Amino acid sequence: MTAQEYDIIIIGGGPAGMTAGLYASRAELKTLQVEKMIMGGQMMTATLVENWPGYPGGIDGPELMSRFQEHCVEFGLETMTGEVEKIEDLGKHKRLTIDGKEYLCKAVIIATGANPSKLGVEGEEALVGRGVSYCATCDGAFFRNVPIAVIGAGDTAAEEAVFLSRFASKVYMVHRRDKMRTTKILQNRVFGNEKIEMVWDSVVTGLDSDNTGLTGIKVKNVKTGEPRQLEAVGMFVAVGVNPVTQFLDGVVELDESGYVKAGENTHTSVPGIFAAGDCRTSYLKQVSTAVGDGAVAATQIEKYIEDLKHS
Ligand code: NAP
Repeated sequence: MTAQEYDIIIIGGGPAGMTAGLYASRAELKTLQVEKMIMGGQMMTATLVENWPGYPGGIDGPELMSRFQEHCVEFGLETMTGEVEKIEDLGKHKRLTIDGKEYLCKAVIIATGANPSKLGVEGEEALVGRGVSYCATCDGAFFRNVPIAVIGAGDTAAEEAVFLSRFASKVYMVHRRDKMRTTKILQNRVFGNEKIEMVWDSVVTGLDSDNTGLTGIKVKNVKTGEPRQLEAVGMFVAVGVNPVTQFLDGVVELDESGYVKAGENTHTSVPGIFAAGDCRTSYLKQVSTAVGDGAVAATQIEKYIEDLKHS
């Protein structure tokens, strides 16, 4: 059977991939967008997006993503659910294996984003779904009137702590330093929330559990060495993200943290393969920067495909 052929295949269904899809299909390039899970990427777990322009008061991540998708459909973007297993550079064409089937295209956009990092403490994995979570929007409502903890002090952690305070009786925010990384506005919301208690200079050293799930969290003050037991039955880990690029090893150059090496023009080390959004080495990782990347990648590809015709 001959492989289906496209101008562009976009890998990833978050804001970067969807914007690239919108631009590419509007430019009448034959485009396929592949997503492993559900369209929307990390935004599907965002409680309230307050810094996407045009929505004073903020908008829910899933609501914003459904609008993005609706907009892409308007221009006829073709989408599919599937996992990209292999990318081969054949020069003027790239061959992708998706769920065992081969597809050809002239250019690829990698927009695979990033996944939440694990804390790496013993018992963490076994307690996922039984007290340990990486998504407050998904699991917060299971923790009504009980004490919980959020680990980390970035924007995600601060947003999650404030959101979780709606349900939980108490929210401990455990941070390894004595200063928060998060933006001032979120910091003020955390400090102004009576249910949130900061546990500064502290790291998680162990998890207690019984057959019902998590029953407590052991922490240690890194300055004094003093241990403390937190009576928490939920632990929301928000200690940053890891790029989803493992399948690209040997395909394009990655940096030491696993991000795809690509500049502002989204070009990777391989002509015809572009990278957009959170999976790319970049200074800022926001919806707005992902959207910008998606638009740049699609327009760079228009030019790339035009140049191919004359090469
Ligand atoms: P982040 O900014 O990298 O923050 C991670 C937090 O976890 C930091 O407080 C860090 O501590 C802590 N941490 C990292 N590794 C740890 C470990 N092993 N043990 C304990 N603590 C650890 O990650 P993020 O909050 O997920 O944000 C990712 C990106 O998305 C950022 O660019 C952020 O601005 C953006 N974002 C933006 C919004 C928004 O604008 N509304 C919302 C969410 C995310 P240190 O501070 O000590 O390093």
